[in-house]
Amino acid sequence: MELRVPKKLNILGIESSCDDTAAAIVHGCPGGTGEVLSSIVVGQTNLHAAFGGVVPEIAARAHVEKLDVTVRQALVQADLTLQDIDGIAVTAGPGLIGGVVSGVMLAKGMAAATGKPLYGVNHLAGHALTPRLTDGTKFPYLMLLVSGGHCQFLIASNPHEFRRLGGTIDDAPGEAFDKVARLIGLAQPGGPAIENAAKNGDSKRFKLPRPLLDRNDCDMSFSGLKTAALRTRDAIISERIGLTPQDQADLAAGFQAAVADVLAEKSRRALREYLKLSPQNPTLCVAGGVAANYTIRSELKRVCDEMAVGFAAPPLALCTDNAAMIAYAALAQMPDRLPDDMGLSAKPRMPLDTSSPTMLGHGKKGAKA
Ligand code: AMP
Ligand code: MG
Repeated sequence: MELRVPKKLNILGIESSCDDTAAAIVHGCPGGTGEVLSSIVVGQTNLHAAFGGVVPEIAARAHVEKLDVTVRQALVQADLTLQDIDGIAVTAGPGLIGGVVSGVMLAKGMAAATGKPLYGVNHLAGHALTPRLTDGTKFPYLMLLVSGGHCQFLIASNPHEFRRLGGTIDDAPGEAFDKVARLIGLAQPGGPAIENAAKNGDSKRFKLPRPLLDRNDCDMSFSGLKTAALRTRDAIISERIGLTPQDQADLAAGFQAAVADVLAEKSRRALREYLKLSPQNPTLCVAGGVAANYTIRSELKRVCDEMAVGFAAPPLALCTDNAAMIAYAALAQMPDRLPDDMGLSAKPRMPLDTSSPTMLGHGKKGAKA
């Protein structure tokens, strides 16, 4: 009898949902493991630095300028041509709509011109499935997605099923890092700047709140913490002319410690919920730019050690926005899904877990998260 070995595919991934233009090629069997053959990420930090945040119109324009070059570079780095590609995966949402549209239009154009199948992928599923690509983590695992635009706990049960246990009810932590950095005169992106300044700071000098720890659930809030940092800054300025480097360092350290405490305590609660499923090798995985923060990572690791749970953090390049995760998500989902047709649309909002109540309410364009 002839044994049918599943064919390995080369999937091109395209990502443009925020401020990183990315293309990558992942090689693997549908539903199996994947190997990253190439991954190109062109960031836009310089374009947005002066504005203290990502400007959607500037981001969209930059994606349009860079997407085709990025795809070409991904093919060159993988030593492949377009003929070698078996499918085109693209972030179809959630994200800044101008950027998502740019990626989806490019992917559709390429699919129409080459006849290759097209796969629209939820950006959050890309992040949430990354531990399978990088560490082969077994389902079910608990995922903390903590980035510039998102913050949520998800139980990943299979490539299509993610149950949200809770998340931010307002700002994402990365957004708060960026805004607080701007408030205290540090550079953008704010996360690394705050982490760096905090090294010389006293995290206990200023009393900053740990929002929502009084609520016994997995929801979080970072907007009030940001306002508290603003008030603290104003109180210092009203006494003196400006902030000294020591004031900046102490505020940075205090803010970072508050975020780390909230994430650690809420992770403890999310883990308790997840452990009720009696997973075989319980694991907490993190992804997103904020997971780069050493203090936050060590706090999360400490909680995992305390609760005898494994801790997995993908390498930084695959933790932040990238296209390898989009290509891999399409590959992982392929056995149970069909390709998309030319009706695939870009969506600013696209909750991963549609069965749980919405986190941020409904807008005209649907559930916000
Ligand atoms: P992402 O949204 O995944 O592309 O990640 C970008 C976000 O991660 C930005 O808001 C950054 O400020 C934040 N970030 C990056 N590095 C760090 C860090 N070391 N500490 C805290 N936040 C960070
Ligand atoms: Mg980014």
